[in-house]
Parts: sequence; structure tokens; C-alpha cells
Amino acid sequence: MSYLFPTYAKWDVAIEKAEGSYAYDANGKKYLDFISGIAVCNLGHCPKQVADAITEQLQKVWHTSNLFHIPLQEEVAKQLVEHSSGDAVFFANSGAEANEAAIKLARKHTGKHKIITFYQSFHGRTFATMTATAQEKVHKGFGPLIPTFEYLPYNDAAAVKNIHDEDIAAFMLEVVQGEGGVIPATKEFLQAVEEKCREIGALFIVDEVQTGIGRTGKAFGYQHYGISPDIITVAKGLGSGFPVGAMIGKKELIESFSPGTHGSTFGGNYLAMAAAKATLETVFQPSFLQSVQEKGQRLFEGLSELLRDVPTVKKVRGKGLLLGIELDIEVNKVLASLREEGLLALSAGSNVLRLLPPLTVSNEEIDLGLGIIASVLKKEKIFSS
Ligand SMILES: *Cc1c(COP(=O)(O)O)cnc(C)c1O
Repeated sequence: MSYLFPTYAKWDVAIEKAEGSYAYDANGKKYLDFISGIAVCNLGHCPKQVADAITEQLQKVWHTSNLFHIPLQEEVAKQLVEHSSGDAVFFANSGAEANEAAIKLARKHTGKHKIITFYQSFHGRTFATMTATAQEKVHKGFGPLIPTFEYLPYNDAAAVKNIHDEDIAAFMLEVVQGEGGVIPATKEFLQAVEEKCREIGALFIVDEVQTGIGRTGKAFGYQHYGISPDIITVAKGLGSGFPVGAMIGKKELIESFSPGTHGSTFGGNYLAMAAAKATLETVFQPSFLQSVQEKGQRLFEGLSELLRDVPTVKKVRGKGLLLGIELDIEVNKVLASLREEGLLALSAGSNVLRLLPPLTVSNEEIDLGLGIIASVLKKEKIFSS
């Protein structure tokens, strides 16, 4: 008997303690964690510098209100601005809220209403971000959605070039679709979106909730592509597990979010800012980002190599330490076997195995994870029966 709404199909595992790349369940079983709380615990579990920052802040002040100046917000915002194409930041508490802010800002700034998003996307669970999420299964049963959202096929540059409608406030997309199957965008596609935005006066919103904060080996995933988005949203990895989200926008947009237009009681709370500041101080160091690229490469090559002779594996793809293995079998059974063998991994859709190790993972841990994945997938016969 549970006292919770069953919105998640929960696994029969409760983590009692976690440190670095490892998590321990209530029975003392040890897992190598290649989920990281879904790209949240980017510095591993309970990173000391973040724990120290939160602990120190706990002794000073927890919360005031956004009616007061909060110097820590300025420090975190400066970090985000200096490492992105944006100039100003709005703090929220989650990815959906950051995207909600982006959608509101785009409409208010342009005076236009249509938002274009892409099939298999995931942008959140509020009404607007659910509508932005172009997946029927997410909409089902909720009645009329927010009007004026339209969907296009992902990675289809021609479909974008074909648009001749001027009445579009924004295009919104993930540079690697996370929940939708770990699908990286092509450069041609993102450039087509950027050109179309400039041509028709629409804003380019990049949802970096999963790909941001170092996950792909750059501060933000869009930086692999030479584009300059008008709005960037982040959340998951920003606080290392402390809930916090942010919307970063270019300076032209600043006046459109004047006092009273948007807000959040908890957004940019002192404790969240202490966590975010300590997180960014580590993640945004060039040598740290470089190490993420190298580890991503090691995992990618290991997967490609190990899986060359496994018939159930169709493809390996992704960027940095956001990687997916497309299988031609049901992924959920594979995940259960991996857990049994001591590896926590995730799905993306029904047939993609998604790996999100902490960005601090060691080479030895990568090799250990690869070994477990290989041995489980080589026993694939047990799944096909
Ligand atoms: C997780 C996710 C969201 C939603 O974030 P929440 O914090 O759960 O609201 C939005 N966009 C992307 C790309 C995500 O991966």
C-alpha cells in the first residue's frame, strides 16, 4: 500500500545512501549509477564542495523573497551568462518552470503566439510545456491543450525551410532529444532553424534541461553547433540535486520581463543558489569539460566496440556523457537485468537504453559499466523468448 499517486512505475529499489558514482539500496546492495538522478547528479552523489556550500548557507539565511536583492543570484547568473549566448537570467525551480518562463517571454516579447516544437520532444508536465511536448502519450486524457503550438519532424531541415508563416513567436527544441530516444540534432537542421528565426522574427529557444551544465562536454549542448540561441533553459544538473531551474535570455528580451510580469516565490532561493554556485564553479572549468568529452568518447567507443557482435544492438548515439543504445528488444527487461548485475541505467522510449553516468565518473568505472552492459546484452536470448 502506497500513499502516493502512482505517476511513476517505480522499480523495487530504494536508495539509502549514495556517494560519487555509487548508490546503495536498503539491503546494502551496491550499484554503479549510470542514471545520476536523470542527469541531475552531474558531480556524482553528495559532492563535497556542494554539500559544504549548502551547509554553510544553512547557517546564514535560507529564504527571503525575490523582493530583496539576493547577491548569490547575481553570482550564479553571471556564471551562466559568461558561458552562454545570453545576458540575463530568471531563476525557477524546475525544467518545466524554466520552459514555461521561456514560452511566456517569447510570446510577450514578439507579440506573436505560435510556438513550433518537434516530434518526440520532451519539455515538461505543466500545461504549456506538456503541449510543447510533441508526444501523444503525454497529452492523452487532459482535454484541450494550449492553442497555437505546432509540431514538425525533428532533424528535418527542409520542413523548417518550407515555413512561410510570419506569425511564429518561437521555435523550441532540444539539441539532443533525451526522453525521445537520445537523438542528436544535425548541424544542418539547427542552422535551418536559426536562419528561419532570423528571417521571420521568431525567437530560438533551446531546452538544455538535460543537455546543459556540462552533460555533453560543453557548458551547453548547443555550443557543439555554432548557433546562438535567444533563450536557453536549464535545470537538472544546475544544483547537483538541489531543485533549481533557470532561463537565460539575450539582452533584447530584458525589458519584456519587467516587474510584475513573471515571478516565483522559491526561484533563486539562497540554498538553491549556494548549490548552483558550487556546482558551476566545478563544471564550467575548461579542464573539467574537456574530461567529460574524453570520458564520453571512451564510453561511446567501448559501446560501439563491445556491441558490434551483439545482434540486438542497432545503434549507439549521443553526445558527451548522454548516450543511447538502440535495441531491437524491449529495454525495460534489460534494465532489470542490469540492476540485478549492479548497474543503474535508464530507458528513452521503448527500445533505447540511455546512459547518464556522473560527469565525474572514472575510466575504471566506465569500463566496469561497459563490462556489465556487454555481459547482460550477450545473454539477450533470455529477453527475446
Ligand atoms: C527533464 C526535462 C524537462 C522537465 O524538467 P522538470 O524539472 O522535470 O520539470 C524539460 N525538458 C527536458 C529536455 C528534460 O529532459
